[in-house]
Amino acid sequence: MNPGAPGGPGEGEGAGDELLARLRDFHADYFPRHQQRFQDLVAQGQHPKTLFIGCSDSRLVPYLLTGAGPGELFIVRNVGALIPPYDGSRGWHGTMAAVEFAVLSLKVEHIVVCGHSHCGAVRAAYEGVPEEARALRFWLELAQEALLPVRPSPEALWRTEQRSVVLQLERLMDYPMVRRAVEAGTLSLHGWHYVIEDGEVHVFDAAAGGFVPASRANSSGTGPYLQYVEHDGQPAV
Ligand SMILES: [Zn+2]
Repeated sequence: MNPGAPGGPGEGEGAGDELLARLRDFHADYFPRHQQRFQDLVAQGQHPKTLFIGCSDSRLVPYLLTGAGPGELFIVRNVGALIPPYDGSRGWHGTMAAVEFAVLSLKVEHIVVCGHSHCGAVRAAYEGVPEEARALRFWLELAQEALLPVRPSPEALWRTEQRSVVLQLERLMDYPMVRRAVEAGTLSLHGWHYVIEDGEVHVFDAAAGGFVPASRANSSGTGPYLQYVEHDGQPAV
């Protein structure tokens, strides 16, 4: 079988290959209905206003939460939605590189850090990981400061998930290009905790000193230090 042959695979090939079936569905069904949008995005380039940094968890679906479509979110996801310290070290710093690109080149106006309920990364930060998962163990140290000196009860895990989001926002403020843009009023940070079972995001509100359900919040969240400012210069809260 030659998948690259003109005309593509024949009838019946790929049967039982669910991923292939979905690729074909996208091309045959979704794409034709949104073709112009994709072609505009190619012709004009991408200009997303938001960098979304979310946990890799499969139950967190940024496009559903935000109603965003193609071209609207620049996304980086990792285990736990964690932000490495901007320490100048040489390494394969994927999350760090994405932040640099989003802020310096795309000039995004928002950075969302989105954790969630029942986060396996937060649980693993308490309970440990398989011996072989050396990279994961090291990575989870980025959540260490958010851990509570208690047994990881459901309530403690919930609180830790939220504390971790704030911790990551604080680390983002140590990125020189992030701090500069926040202080210039051209970038706002948002800390979110998505409660899967309720279908609701709780947003960090620096003034309230905690997380507020989006249904009761005055804004889509504030950074750890500075008041969220709308583009007319007026504080949003
Ligand atoms: Zn998670």
